Amino acid sequence: MKLQKIDALEARRAELRAITGQRAAVAYKNQDARVRAIFDSPNTNDGLRTARLIDRANSSLYQALADLAAVNAQLTDQRNQIEDQRKQQQDVLDQINAGSNVLYENVAAVMQALGPPVLIDGMVCPLPGAAYAKDFGAPRSGHTHQGNDMFAPTGTPELAVVNGNVTYGDGGGGGMGAYIAGDDGNRYVYYHLSAYVGPPRHVTAGEVIGKVGSTGDASGPHLHFEIHPFGGPAIDPYPTLQRICG
Ligand SMILES: [Zn+2]
Repeated sequence: MKLQKIDALEARRAELRAITGQRAAVAYKNQDARVRAIFDSPNTNDGLRTARLIDRANSSLYQALADLAAVNAQLTDQRNQIEDQRKQQQDVLDQINAGSNVLYENVAAVMQALGPPVLIDGMVCPLPGAAYAKDFGAPRSGHTHQGNDMFAPTGTPELAVVNGNVTYGDGGGGGMGAYIAGDDGNRYVYYHLSAYVGPPRHVTAGEVIGKVGSTGDASGPHLHFEIHPFGGPAIDPYPTLQRICG
């Protein structure tokens, strides 16, 4: 909105500049012409009329200059307003970032206080204590279920199942997704998160990477968990979950 207005003002300014430029050239030339008009004319009245026309042209030049000054003032005003808004937005962004850093530190502190997570074959249950379904391959609209659903309230911390590099991103029907490229060579997918915890990074098994939610195509809060051996097609994670989650 504001930017459109600035564009319009810029265009008006260019227009006024062109007009004042032309007028200034005419006025300059007419300095002589005005005097000559009076003296050269065989008829004094004609000469005076020409002089008046030139005066009128000059007064519209002053009007154009005044308009130009007004447009310049408006432009400056608009620019200042936009700069103020940008600063306010940056302040809000800074506050949000500071808040999320505090949250991330709190979660990390809580996990540390709880002690090291139970490691089985270098793996940690992604959602300790949660009930989970033996639903790999179950029919879903347009595809079969590629993982197991694990049930816990919204906000329950989800843990890195192995050491590896975690990244985050939109998983389509999976909603907010976390993806671990495991140091073991396998890929692990977490869907329907309500929040990402921390930036993309290398994590240790048991580190909190996200929180349970119901984003994407989910009827209630749960973690949809997938295992892709060596990044290939998903396999049934149920036997693994039985081993590491009990
Ligand atoms: Zn699922």
